[in-house]
Amino acid sequence: MALIVQKFGGTSVGSVERIANVAARVARFRERGDDVVVVVSAMSGETNRLLALGRDVAGQGEPAPREMDALVATGEQVASALLAIALGVRGVPARSLLGHQIRLRTDAAHTKARIRTIDDEPLREVLDAGQVAVVAGFQGIDEHGNITTLGRGGSDTTAVALAAALAADLCEIYTDVEGVFTTDPRICPSARKVPKISYEEMLELASLGAKVLQIRSVEMAMKHGVKVHVRSSFTDAEGTLVTKEDESLEAIVVAGVALDRDVAKVTLRGVADEPGLAATLFEALADAHVVVDMIIQNVSADGRTDLTFTVSRGDAETARPIAEKALGEQKRGDVIVDASPAKVSIVGLGMRSHAGVAAKMFRLLAVAGINIEAISTSEIKVSCLISEAHGAEAVRALHEGFGLADPA
Ligand code: ADP
Ligand code: ASP
Ligand code: MG
Repeated sequence: MALIVQKFGGTSVGSVERIANVAARVARFRERGDDVVVVVSAMSGETNRLLALGRDVAGQGEPAPREMDALVATGEQVASALLAIALGVRGVPARSLLGHQIRLRTDAAHTKARIRTIDDEPLREVLDAGQVAVVAGFQGIDEHGNITTLGRGGSDTTAVALAAALAADLCEIYTDVEGVFTTDPRICPSARKVPKISYEEMLELASLGAKVLQIRSVEMAMKHGVKVHVRSSFTDAEGTLVTKEDESLEAIVVAGVALDRDVAKVTLRGVADEPGLAATLFEALADAHVVVDMIIQNVSADGRTDLTFTVSRGDAETARPIAEKALGEQKRGDVIVDASPAKVSIVGLGMRSHAGVAAKMFRLLAVAGINIEAISTSEIKVSCLISEAHGAEAVRALHEGFGLADPA
């Protein structure tokens, strides 16, 4: 008998029939004698629909984040109640639970809250009563009882956090693909499912745009050593185990390719090449909670230089006036915001011990006629900023060039 946390994403609970299928799957685990905590996302499309509704009502105004959280959290409430109903009529006792009912406490950062604590007591009571706990993912409460949400894809994080809090034997993430692939199978049909991937690689892939798992869910799994199995809710095929690195994983030079389209580039032209500007600029961006990704500064000519950095598109218009102000203090230069780039990346533990991986990436992009606007690297990844129009093509060229394609 095991304690398993099973998370079902939006597509997996997207219709009456699919909810019945999920109930049938959960029932099989119960029949085997396992204790099951289920975490559900909102039915597919529902979160986007609710967000659009909130924005429509706000019109030209800015909707209050607190109310947007109260609004979108209803999507998961509906799904959890529906699944508990479906389990009940199958003769599987189940109880739906919202964030406040499991006392999932977060900070007060509406729309992107972080989990602080979870009280495992309410969940244990449900399990001890022989019931399946069906938890609404993505939501929590802050210290004043306000409803908060955990950022897009946040149900993954709810699931891993519950698995950690309950010391569950396994956290299964059921989704609409069979596991973690060498790249997004929707962009590259020859993508292959990988049987096993390290936390580190998965963290990089998630950070670099592979939304199959939310970044924070991987961070949390790594921190607490939660074994995560990503698999399909439509088949019984083995999926991908996300786990600690081992020798077999270290031997793989490039494990995956990721594409991030949520990139904006801000360039400050004609910056005076003297101490202080970068410090002033990036301090002001940090104060405005703008997360900066790549930073490039050119060699100066005539005492002036260009400074470029990238942010997510949602932060571009916050960054613009900050950059203008920083330049304004030196009374020259201008700011250009470009919201059309994308970032393509390769990730692999084996990069640590292999030379020439970045060079090969640049050559493959060059052969495909794709221009590189900026480069950044870490121990286990290389990222290139390119134009979004070439995004899918770049993914396919790298996937093929690094021999990741399915031979079939
Ligand atoms: P869910 O609603 O189940 O949470 P998501 O849409 O959030 O599902 O995540 C699954 C999607 O992630 C897949 O449909 C796929 O298009 C995308 N994806 C991106 N990169 C990868 C990858 N490397 N492996 C698998 N899926 C990926
Ligand atoms: N429903 C939320 C979203 O669409 C959370 C999730 O699906 O994980 O982002
Ligand atoms: Mg998701």
